[in-house]
Amino acid sequence: VRIVESVGEMRAACAAERRAGRRIGFVPTMGYLHEGHLSLFRRAREAADTLAVSIFVNPIQFGPGEDYERYPVDAARDEGLCRGEKVDLLFRPSAREMYAAGHSVYVDEGDLASGLCGAHRPGHFRGVLTVVAKLFHVVEPDVAVFGQKDAQQVRLIEKMVRDLDFAVRIEVAPTVREPDGLAMSSRNAYLSDVERRRAVCLWQALELAKRLYAGGTHDAAVLVARMREHLAQGSPPVRVEYVEAVDWETLKPVTRIERKTLLALAVRLGATRLIDNALLCVADG
Ligand code: AMP
Repeated sequence: VRIVESVGEMRAACAAERRAGRRIGFVPTMGYLHEGHLSLFRRAREAADTLAVSIFVNPIQFGPGEDYERYPVDAARDEGLCRGEKVDLLFRPSAREMYAAGHSVYVDEGDLASGLCGAHRPGHFRGVLTVVAKLFHVVEPDVAVFGQKDAQQVRLIEKMVRDLDFAVRIEVAPTVREPDGLAMSSRNAYLSDVERRRAVCLWQALELAKRLYAGGTHDAAVLVARMREHLAQGSPPVRVEYVEAVDWETLKPVTRIERKTLLALAVRLGATRLIDNALLCVADG
């Protein structure tokens, strides 16, 4: 694995790959890698010839009072995992390298970003889209892989690529879970033992809704109510930020589940914010 820290060197390294006729698969991450990230690496490697990964904790996607300062970091471990996955190019810029003093141009979206996490994290998706646009310009990947775990992010990136004519194909990889169902996340490292055991309630709520849906309950309000009921049971308590059933294309709430629907939820468990989601009404489940 070649580790690159400057924009100029990364741009040159990627250009050399393309000149040699190699297609670039790219996976942007914030590091503290887990199996979910590694599944994306494998997907990108299959879809392309050269595997490029970025590890960058993007300051502008964190709001005031969020966890930017304490976001988990383990550069040595991440490097070892990248080596194990045969990552070709690991881009690890500093915040100053990505955002020169006076940086003032952003990529914003006002529609898909307005609900779900966007409603609770003002400016978050503006930060995400801006950094992903910048990374796409540096790497110019043929394929980029994102996780279904961050479903709203996936929809926003697909929309940005279409609306701003990026020449990249976006692939979406399924959520990788712990054996008990908890979606893998770097933020799971924040959980105490009791919180970790409790955290499975997000997945359980989604599974409950999927069972009800399969049993013929297609009324979104009923599914959401049953999920909230499930989340309200047990301790320590979780504070629900949202539980919603939204249309996959528009991310607007639906009343009946008749098309591809995203069931998404965000909760706070102690000081940790957790999200998860499932799709309903899709051919592949
Ligand atoms: P992050 O490092 O959290 O910004 O995530 C980087 C990429 O990994 C994003 O595309 C995420 O959606 C994806 N990702 C995070 N957790 C998982 C997971 N459990 N399964 C699959 N992909 C994931």
